[in-house]
Amino acid sequence: MSIRIGIMGYGNLGRGVEYAIQQNPDMELAAVFTRRNPKDLKVLTGTAKVFPAEEAEKMKDEIDVMILCGGSATDLPEQSPKYAEMFNIIDSFDTHAGISQHFDEVDSAARKSGKLGIISVGWDPGMFSLNRLYANAILPNGKDDTFWGKGVSQGHSDAIRRIEGVKDAIQYTIPVESAISAVRSGEMPTLSAREKHTRECFVVAEEGADKAKIESEIKNMPNYFADYDTTVHFITEEELKKNYSGIPHGGFVIRCGKTGRKEEHTHIIEYNLKLDSNPEFTASVIVAYARAAYRLHHEGQSGCKTVFDIPPAYLSPKTGAELRKTLL
Ligand code: NDP
Repeated sequence: MSIRIGIMGYGNLGRGVEYAIQQNPDMELAAVFTRRNPKDLKVLTGTAKVFPAEEAEKMKDEIDVMILCGGSATDLPEQSPKYAEMFNIIDSFDTHAGISQHFDEVDSAARKSGKLGIISVGWDPGMFSLNRLYANAILPNGKDDTFWGKGVSQGHSDAIRRIEGVKDAIQYTIPVESAISAVRSGEMPTLSAREKHTRECFVVAEEGADKAKIESEIKNMPNYFADYDTTVHFITEEELKKNYSGIPHGGFVIRCGKTGRKEEHTHIIEYNLKLDSNPEFTASVIVAYARAAYRLHHEGQSGCKTVFDIPPAYLSPKTGAELRKTLL
């Protein structure tokens, strides 16, 4: 029997999950849930059933894993504990500072219901976190560096859109090549935020807006831009739609470590992602972890977990015997 998946929330990530399920023959899409009017949603496959979010509870026995695709800022803190009372859940909660509290809330709900939740699944947090863990365990004497991009930062784009006189905007985070080369060379340089990344902004200004003022507000925005070298380009709405509508991202996790009697040997571990679509890739990671959630729950496990707690074999549709053949 295939693993029956529910999608809660139908934005970029929700659509990505729908695509990813189609690539995994051991899974089927049981239903999509939304807080909007289901009639207003156009699902990709055309065959998926869409229900109001309030009706999810009625389908407790028809869904093995509910994938929560809401936003981290306000949706998931509420939705993840709520739905962990009814379903095995996966979310992609990415507010780094809030992960411990979110874990405790999902853990408490899932222990009560006997369900299993895996939180903060994706690439960062997610695959990047896992690769940092592996690299640190293997090379305890060393240094980590993470670079992001080139890619769209949704948070920085939103921050620009809130400036007076801005109609629309997109922000790309770009890693500095010379910084990556220095890290890869094993020099273990100490790099500031400014030395590691630059920020490039494409802005559509309202008619008559003061562009110089907008540019200065962007470049001096604390936390977001003030600590970086930032370039601002003013473009038309058409150019934005035509040239900058995708959601690419990616980055590098690099650990350099030393071993040997006099630490004379240098080792570099690198994990590199280059993603045409951030939400589609994130959704693909999530769907693999949904398989693990299903299996672990079948084995009687409950409570909250993160990517650190999931044995890799549980992610794969292959059997243990099949996987052992691929060890070498
Ligand atoms: P979206 O803004 O596209 O969707 C979030 C929610 O908003 C949806 O679940 C949907 O809920 C609602 N929504 C979507 N479109 C509309 C619309 N047109 N009008 C009104 N409501 C809408 O966010 P993303 O899917 O891009 O991202 C979701 C989260 O994924 C992010 O907040 C981020 O935290 C996380 N993420 C994590 C990553 C990681 O590596 N861990 C990487 C990338 C993303 P509903 O259908 O109920 O209305």
